This record gives sequence, structure tokens and C-alpha cells, in this order.
Amino acid sequence: SHRIMLGPLVAAIDQGTSSTRFLVFNSKTAELLSHHQVEIKQSFPKEGWVEEDPKEILQSVYECMERTCEKLTQLNIDISNIKAIGVTNQRETTLVWDKETGEPLYNAIVWLDLRTQSTVENLINKTPGRNKNHLKHKTGLPISTYFSAVKLRWLMDNVKEVHEAVVSHRAMFGTVDSWLIWCLTGGKSGGVHCTDVTNASRTMLFNIHTMDWDTELCKYFGIPMEILPRVRSSSEIYGLMKSGALSGIPISGVSSFLFCLGDQSAALVGQMCFQDGQAKNTYGTGCFLLRNTGAKPVMSEHGLLTTVAYKLGRDKPACYALEGSVAIAGAVVRWLQDNLGIIGSSEELEKLAASVGTSYGCYFVPAFSGLYAPYWEPSARGIICGLTQFTNKRHLAFAALEAVCFQTREILDAMNQDSGIPLTQLQVDGGMTSNKLLMQLQADILCIPVVKPSMPETTALGAAMAAGAAEGVSVWSLNPDDLSEVTSEKFEPQINPEGRMSCLLSPLA
Ligand code: ADP
Repeated sequence: SHRIMLGPLVAAIDQGTSSTRFLVFNSKTAELLSHHQVEIKQSFPKEGWVEEDPKEILQSVYECMERTCEKLTQLNIDISNIKAIGVTNQRETTLVWDKETGEPLYNAIVWLDLRTQSTVENLINKTPGRNKNHLKHKTGLPISTYFSAVKLRWLMDNVKEVHEAVVSHRAMFGTVDSWLIWCLTGGKSGGVHCTDVTNASRTMLFNIHTMDWDTELCKYFGIPMEILPRVRSSSEIYGLMKSGALSGIPISGVSSFLFCLGDQSAALVGQMCFQDGQAKNTYGTGCFLLRNTGAKPVMSEHGLLTTVAYKLGRDKPACYALEGSVAIAGAVVRWLQDNLGIIGSSEELEKLAASVGTSYGCYFVPAFSGLYAPYWEPSARGIICGLTQFTNKRHLAFAALEAVCFQTREILDAMNQDSGIPLTQLQVDGGMTSNKLLMQLQADILCIPVVKPSMPETTALGAAMAAGAAEGVSVWSLNPDDLSEVTSEKFEPQINPEGRMSCLLSPLA
């Protein structure tokens, strides 16, 4: 058998909330050569709590790498052509582990988790004027259950093992990127404890202007700085893989060289939104609309976050974004499946909803984890209203899809108001975008075209690009002129004139 000759390959570990993937791309063509995906279990030990098992997350990464390498070998593709690996991850999810034993000291507290609601309310009540934006000038974020600092505080206050490890200087804190990179680069025998600027900017301990951990913020939350990972750019070499199918290959991240990029930043890069004003919306567990604002951190007047979009190399400038985060998008689909049992799989939702083509006046607000942008209201809860004797599960399915679209509409309206320049089309990606009915509904509700790339794995592509472009790897150019045209599918708004009138009024106003 002959080996297929390809250019250098770049891989990505995409560790999301609902699954882990490993993907290998040809750096010359951006073609996806092979991949493998493993679902991640979520546990809900108490009302409002959401946890994942750090060891299961790590194992899923190893499994995805092994399976993908087997598939490549079957295709006669030499895995030693993989020049770099980018890590991209669910952001904000918080872990603490023991650096001597290498053992996690508690489950990962997932970003959606609401256990810190009362802590957050207490913190806000103590600020002058009960202002949830008290720390926004440094962090770009409102005080919320969403970000890592309050989750870490909870772990230190409520988990004896974490408290003891902190006191005896054995604790390491990290988001999922830090945990994976530490483990993959050797763990307790010399693993690299680091994170990138995009993940750091979601902790509430990071100053987005100085681009470093902030002593005052750490004091405010009572976090000892020694447990924090070192912050690096999203594209520089962090270390070598020391375990698994690909040991010896440098791990790199989005935007410059060897390391990691938070998933929403990676999607922005994968969608080639490098220019000020370009935006994308990702439909996964939640929904995240990011608009590149260039070298300037723009503070929102309409409930959006200011976040670090990427910094693609140690000496490269940071690029910022305005972000509208919606906690529940695809999660509502999983809820209809697991909690109500009205669908057997997420694919069934489209058929069910399409069979009626209307919600018949039923509205579904899936505020399971409070409301994120633009409200930042942790005490909000979900509601289904407008029910009649006539309503059935098909209408409910339709209302669930509409709920995702209406939430995006609110974010888009806020984004347009903040920037003053309305978006003329929306670039989209993420697991839910395989639902064509959702895409059409979204175009109808936004009244602008929705454009979906034909290669749907933009998050992983972005991480691979950043890794491949890193100094010392340099197999991928991030120069817009060198990037190949992306083929895409376009959903045009197809609403009748009356419907269009009503859709121009903000649906939840
Ligand atoms: P994450 O990165 O958050 O793990 P993904 O981008 O992998 O998320 O998307 C997974 C989410 O998309 C799940 O919540 C799933 O329910 C939802 N999903 C996947 N396929 C469909 C579909 N055809 N219709 C509606 N929702 C879907």
C-alpha cells in the first residue's frame, strides 16, 4: 500500500460542553481529513448544579486522538505529518487539582452552573449602588455565576480537599484548557500549567487592559495568585505531548503558535472574522455571538460582554470582541430529549417541528440557568406560555427552536445598538446549525441572511489555524489573502411583508 503525500497536517482538540472531538486538517487546503467525537456526561447533582468529570474529559481526549490516528492510518496518511495541535475548549468551566498526586479535587463546575447565585447576589449587594458592572472596567464582565472566580471561591469554601490543597500549596486552578494541557504535557511529572488570554479573560481575575492577572481582583475574590496558571498568547508553543497516541508533537493554540484558544474565539478565527466589525454566532449548548472590535476593548451599553478575542503570538497585538452569550440553546434540545422524552435524538426535533411549522402562539423561554446577555439575571427561570387544549409536542418543539432564534435576535439588536453599524448578514456555526429549519427561522426572525460554512467544524479549524500559524510551526498563514475561500450555504429571509413588519419589532420587547 502507498502512503498518500499531503502537506503538513495540523490537529485540534475541541473539548466542548456536550462532547469532545479530535480533528486533523490539511494545512494547505483547510480540508478536514479525519475526526472522532465522544459525548461527555453531565451530572445535575442538585437543582441548578451542572458538573462534569475531569478524568472522563481527559479520557475522551485520549480516545478521540487514538481513534482518529487509527482512521488516518487506514487512509494511508502518516500521522507523523501532524505538526501541531491546537486546544480549544468550553470556557469558564472550573477545575482544581492536586499537583503532587495529579488528581482532580472535585468535579469540574460547568459554566452553566448556578450554585453561586447567592454569592453573586451578596457580592452585588455590597457594591456601591448595587452595581453588577462594578468590575467591568477591568474585566469587561458583569458579576455573574457564569465566570470562573465565583466557582473557584465556592470550591475553596465548600470542598475540604480543595481548601487543604490550597493551604498546603498543592492546589492548581484551571479552566479545561489548563487541565488538559497540564495532563498532556506530563501532569505531575513536569506538566505545563498555563492558559491563554482568551480563557483567562473569562475568569474575572484577569485585567483585559494589562493582559495579566490582577492583584486587586484576586484579593476581591480571595484567590491566592500562586494557584493560577501562567497566561500566554493563543498561538505560541506551550509544550510537547508527553502521553497518548501523539507524544512528541508540540501542542499549539489558536492565533499564533502552540497552545489554546477558548471555543468562541476559535470559532471567530475559523470563520475568518479578522476584521473590525466581522461577527459570527455559534449554536452549541449555548449560543454565542461575537463581533470583532479590533485592537480596542469596547464597553457595551446594552448588556454585552467585552472579551479578549485572540492574541495570535507573544509579540502580536491583542484583538477584542463584544460578545452576547446565551446560556441555553442546544441544551433545550437535550432537555426535550432527556427530561420530557418527546424526542429520541436531537435530529428528530427538526422533523417534529417541521410537521406543524408553527408554535401556534406557544412561547418557550428556556432560562434554565438564569438569563445571560443582555439581562444578567441569575434568578430568572424558564417558562412555557400560550398553551391551549390544541397545543401538542410539535408546537413545543417549534417553540423551542424559535426560542433560540429570539434570543439571538435580542443579542443582535444589542450588538447593532452598541456598534451603530447593523450587521447585514450573520455567519453561523455549531452543532445546532445542522438543523435547516432553525437556520431558516433564524433568517426570518433576524430579517438578514444567515450564512453557514459547508465545513461545519469552524471551532476546531480556528484552533488548528492558530496552532499551525504559531512561530516555530509556521505551516499555516493567517494572512486573509492566503486563506482559501470558504464555500457556504445561505438562508435568505423568506417572510411575507406582514410577518416582516412584526419581526422588525423586537419579539421579546
Ligand atoms: P458544544 O460545543 O457546546 O458541546 P456542539 O456545537 O457540539 O455543542 O452542539 C451540540 C448541541 O447541538 C447539543 O446541545 C445538541 O442538542 C444540539 N444539536 C445537535 N444537532 C441538532 C439538531 N439537528 N437540531 C437541534 N439541535 C441539535
